[in-house]
Amino acid sequence: MSTDPTSSIPRPDANGLVHGLTIEELKLLSTSCLEARALAYCPYSLFRVGASLLIHASSPTTASTTVISGANIENASYPVGTCAERTALGTAILQGHRLGSFKAIGVATDMDDFCSPCGMCRQFIREFCGNEVPVFMHNKSGEFRVLTVGELLPMSFGPEKLPPREVLKGVVGVEQGGEGGEKIKEA
Ligand SMILES: [Zn+2]
Repeated sequence: MSTDPTSSIPRPDANGLVHGLTIEELKLLSTSCLEARALAYCPYSLFRVGASLLIHASSPTTASTTVISGANIENASYPVGTCAERTALGTAILQGHRLGSFKAIGVATDMDDFCSPCGMCRQFIREFCGNEVPVFMHNKSGEFRVLTVGELLPMSFGPEKLPPREVLKGVVGVEQGGEGGEKIKEA
C-alpha cells in the first residue's frame, strides 16, 4: 500500500483548487499532519495523531503561506492528555494567529478509517476557525475526507454568541444585588 500522501490528492476544480487549496498547499498540509504523528507522546493508548494548520499568507505574523503542526500528548493521569489539534492550535495562538489566520486543518492517524476531531477539539477549533474552514481527515495511507468546521459542529456556540460584558454585568448585578444592577428585595 502506498504511503505517499500526495498519491491520493484528487483532481483540482476549474480554478486549480481542492476545497480552496492549491495542490502545493494541500501537499504541505497533508505531509505535515502525517509526519507530525511521529511526534506523538502516547505511551498509554499508542494512538498516534498528527495535526496541521495551514496559515494564510496574509496572517499578521506570516509573510508566506506556512503550516504549524501538533501531535497528541498523553499523561499518566489519563484525562490530562491533550489532542493533536489543540497542541497545534495552542502553538499557533502563541505565535499571534487568530480567527482569520487559518486556511485549512489536517488530521492524521494510523487507522484505515478517516479519523475526525473529537468533540472537545471541535469546540476548540470553533473558537479560532470560521465555519467554512475545511478539515482534511486523513487515513494512514494519506487519503482524506473533507468536512468544514461548521459541518463537524453544527449550531455551535462561539464568542459572537456571548452578549456584551456590560449586558452580562447588568444581569448578574440584578440577580445578585451587586454592582451594575438594582438590588432585589428580600422576601
Ligand atoms: Zn480532540
